[in-house]
Amino acid sequence: MADNKIERFEFQAEVKQVLDIVVHSLYTDKEIFIRELVSNASDASEKLRHLQLKGESVYDENLELEIKVSTDDTAGTITIQDFGIGMTHDELVENLGTIAHSGSKAFLKALKESGERNENLIGQFGVGFYSVFMVAKSVKVFTRSFRPDADCLCWASDGSGSYEIESASGERRGTRIVIELKEEYKSFARKSEAERILKRYSGFVQFPLLLNGDKLNTVQAVWLKPKSEVSEEEYKEFYKFQANAFDEPRFWLHFSADAPLTINALLYVPTENLERFGFGRMDAGVALYCRKVLIDSDPKGLLPEWLRFLRGVIDSADLPLNISRETMQDSSLVQKLNRVITKRFLKTLEEKAERHAEEYRAFWDSFGLFLKEGVTMDFTHREQLLKLLRFESSMTDADELTGIGDYCSRAAEAQKQIFYLAGNSRAAIEGGPYLEAFRARKIEVLYLYEPIDEFVVNHAGEYGGKRFVSADADDLDLDTIADAIVDSPKESLDDDAFKALAEWTKEQLGERVGEVARGKRLVDSPAMIVNTDKMMSAQMRKLMKAMQKEGPETTPPPAKFELNPSHPIICNLDRLRKCDADLARQVVDQLYDGALIAAGLLDDPSEMLKRSYAMLERVTGS
Ligand code: ADP
Ligand code: MG
Repeated sequence: MADNKIERFEFQAEVKQVLDIVVHSLYTDKEIFIRELVSNASDASEKLRHLQLKGESVYDENLELEIKVSTDDTAGTITIQDFGIGMTHDELVENLGTIAHSGSKAFLKALKESGERNENLIGQFGVGFYSVFMVAKSVKVFTRSFRPDADCLCWASDGSGSYEIESASGERRGTRIVIELKEEYKSFARKSEAERILKRYSGFVQFPLLLNGDKLNTVQAVWLKPKSEVSEEEYKEFYKFQANAFDEPRFWLHFSADAPLTINALLYVPTENLERFGFGRMDAGVALYCRKVLIDSDPKGLLPEWLRFLRGVIDSADLPLNISRETMQDSSLVQKLNRVITKRFLKTLEEKAERHAEEYRAFWDSFGLFLKEGVTMDFTHREQLLKLLRFESSMTDADELTGIGDYCSRAAEAQKQIFYLAGNSRAAIEGGPYLEAFRARKIEVLYLYEPIDEFVVNHAGEYGGKRFVSADADDLDLDTIADAIVDSPKESLDDDAFKALAEWTKEQLGERVGEVARGKRLVDSPAMIVNTDKMMSAQMRKLMKAMQKEGPETTPPPAKFELNPSHPIICNLDRLRKCDADLARQVVDQLYDGALIAAGLLDDPSEMLKRSYAMLERVTGS
């Protein structure tokens, strides 16, 4: 670039959008702009240290890495300077003129998803560099890249729509940002005010932080300190700083290990599960360090996908510094880290579940979905994850949960299955016909309320040698587990009578059912539909049907219709079909539709309603 030539650029459209919101926002926490700029200064310094450790030659080689903030009360300016990697001409255009970076991108995305100009979002994301325009009349970024042959440059903007780049001179390596504050924000240029803000947000910065020449912080890598030397307050502060979080941590795991790897880790579970609030899929948030040097702030593959809600730091002295994002996933060291840390975290959850049931329950309510996802995706940790799942069951009270381990310890020795029923609610499951036979034998059934639950148990297949089996499955021989405790019925159809009735019923129902059979399991209900397909319960079939609305038509396998030979309706039906076949046919249709409802499979109730009115008319008329 020729000397003294001023180049003018328009901001990218997305940047303008962000700027517009930032500048006109009513957001009260204007002071975060300091945190954002200091974080950028720290990032740039970290990157430089990394380059040096890799042996790369850098300009201004012996310059100490510190971050200098200076205020000028009378002029109303703040200057933030670092000696990090700096920026070249193209990097200025790319980094400050377009949105290619994390903070602002996430902000824009959330903004689009929330569909409104939600000013509070700024507070939740911190829009990075652009936040400075909340308070600045003008901003000048003087910079010199670490590259030996780079130029000194000055980037300038008032945040309205364009910026300028011209050459500068005499800059040291790194970046110096001079902020001229708007009249109403001049108080930020007071030393005491700047000091308060820096201490609040930037107390953990890994480089000496100077304000008007005075050192503010000492380097604090909390994760490397012994546990006994870290206060609760410090843990919480570090969480907010490191995760850029605005909630409190729910709990944390701070541990170190020497074998098989040297690890210092500090992992946090947030209070809020942002995925539940519709913010979209979370990004991994555990940063990888090697002896305090940042390797990657959100390394892919460091932890399993289902642990993406974790925040914090993993530091391993065994990692080669020149590991790159690309080679990371292949590195056997990273895989080892993954295994060790995942195991350790799962153990922490197990201990929580055992010793602090209430705390675990609260965690489960917010983050249980991630563990379920883990069961379906992560074969290595499946067994451990299964132990951590929680469901209601026929032996818990409403809203009380049990684990699969506890379920198994309550089950009779002869019971080789873990029974479950899927349904929308406790009432829906308990109102259906499937539970009767289990209740009569005191066999526990897990209640699965979420659509994903059945996928989860199907994926798992078994736990501790017991198969997961849907309680609406065909051919369940519950008598081998326990005898039913039932009052003997007054009347019951004998084999021949039942056989004739079943044949007649099958004729009435035609293709709608595959088979009509004697229901061995029915106690209080006259009839039910059971599942002949082992892999697919009624709920699954319903789900499949819903998914196939768009796709090609495939008929679900015909179900088996079971009649209860001891139920008064069935006994009456056998007499009725001989004297009033029309009414008997209506009764069969009604029983069948009723069973469909109980199985959650009736799509259109209009026929059933019509029939029901016709029958009521007869009953009330006679
Ligand atoms: P983020 O920090 O999330 O990437 P920012 O808006 O804070 O987003 O910064 C945008 C980009 O500008 C950074 O990614 C970085 O490349 C560049 N940048 C900002 N400040 C500095 C700095 N002090 N030194 C070098 N590069 C910087
Ligand atoms: Mg930033």
